[in-house]
Amino acid sequence: MMQHYDIAICGAGLVGTSLALALAQKTTLNILLFDSKTPGNLLPKKHLDTRTLALNAFSQQLLAQLGLWEDLQDYQQAIHSIQISEQGRFAKAFLTANDVKAQALGHVIEIADLQRVLQQRLTHVGKKITVLDNTQLSHFRQQNHQVQLELQQRETKQLIVADWLIAADSSHSFIREQLSIPTQKHDYQQTAIVSVLELQKSAEGQAFERFLKNGVLALLPLTQQRCGSVWVAPTATATTLLSLDDDAYRIALQHQFGWQLGPFLKIGPRQHYPLQLVLAQRVIEQRTIIIGNAAHTLNPIGAQGLNLGLHDVACLLRFFKNELTLDQLSKKLITRNQQLAELSDRTARFYALDCGPINLARQLGLFTLEHTDLVKNHLIRRMMGY
Ligand SMILES: Cc1cc2nc3c(=O)[nH]c(=O)nc-3n(C[C@H](O)[C@H](O)[C@H](O)COP(=O)(O)OP(=O)(O)OC[C@H]3O[C@@H](n4cnc5c(N)ncnc54)[C@H](O)[C@@H]3O)c2cc1C
Repeated sequence: MMQHYDIAICGAGLVGTSLALALAQKTTLNILLFDSKTPGNLLPKKHLDTRTLALNAFSQQLLAQLGLWEDLQDYQQAIHSIQISEQGRFAKAFLTANDVKAQALGHVIEIADLQRVLQQRLTHVGKKITVLDNTQLSHFRQQNHQVQLELQQRETKQLIVADWLIAADSSHSFIREQLSIPTQKHDYQQTAIVSVLELQKSAEGQAFERFLKNGVLALLPLTQQRCGSVWVAPTATATTLLSLDDDAYRIALQHQFGWQLGPFLKIGPRQHYPLQLVLAQRVIEQRTIIIGNAAHTLNPIGAQGLNLGLHDVACLLRFFKNELTLDQLSKKLITRNQQLAELSDRTARFYALDCGPINLARQLGLFTLEHTDLVKNHLIRRMMGY
């Protein structure tokens, strides 16, 4: 007889793993979590992801409900303010936690720390989650109330059945493609270069978003006088930047950012990500639900990708606890995905343009943001996930 699971989650990235942990903790369901890769904490250090993530208040609350936030205490840095500026122009906007009477606008965490904490928790959950690594979904078939999956683990194939299949299998989702879900896609022809910088003095909870002539530079405060940097540039420029040695790249970064945080002392390994928009127009198909980057891959300009993935997790948790119907779940997911995809897409395209009237509009935008409390509060609340 085929092995049966209530839920099979394809993809043990941050979103798939968070969902497995949430369901194991808050329901009695029997869960399979599988991934074609080896879990992050087993990889050699040089392969670790060096991205830094800004998590909003909604994500923080979810991780706290799952008892994970306390494990992250030593690795997270609160964001107290964000400075938004444009290179070579005078207007600036400052968003502060005080503007909305909050303690923080969000928290920054290194992706490798979050991966490690999630993996450690997985090993303590026990039998409610079966974890399979090096396991690829090679085929699946939806039946009336179940999905039959063919899993390929090294040379071996096994068939299993699950009541629900959750696709958390990345931007290039095999499941989404197999189901022929209509998907909006856009290649921004831009690449994000990420690295961690050592500073002479602490950034003291200040984050920076600086719009450049044809790109964006974001610095996110980290613990121990460090900050995470994300430099988004047209792909041809990014290729040149990636060919520089560490010191030359550090100097180029300092030149673009300026000296507000003092000298950049040292820079860690760089990684790069081509940027694209991927937005599934449907996220539920019979017994399959698509979440995380498989449903919505956004431009990182608004720092919303994982936050939106954790919103998916919270909604699915409510569905599996019978607090939402399938229809309500579908509406909640699609509405939020579309809102945030539109916001990040518009901002990304607006700031990629370099021409007279657009530059003026950008300056006016920053001026209005700085001087209109209503606009400022609205933007801050959106960023915080409300
Ligand atoms: C430069 C950059 C900066 C970012 N900054 C932020 C930020 O500040 N805040 C924020 O909220 N978000 C941010 N994001 C977005 C965030 O990193 C992603 O949204 C998040 O990591 C997506 O996680 P995921 O689990 O959905 O997908 P993934 O991490 O892609 O995981 C998918 C998993 O599925 C597995 N898989 C795929 N196909 C199969 C198959 N057929 N069988 C088995 N397994 C399979 C893969 O091996 C992989 O492990 C940023 C992104 C980038 C690129």
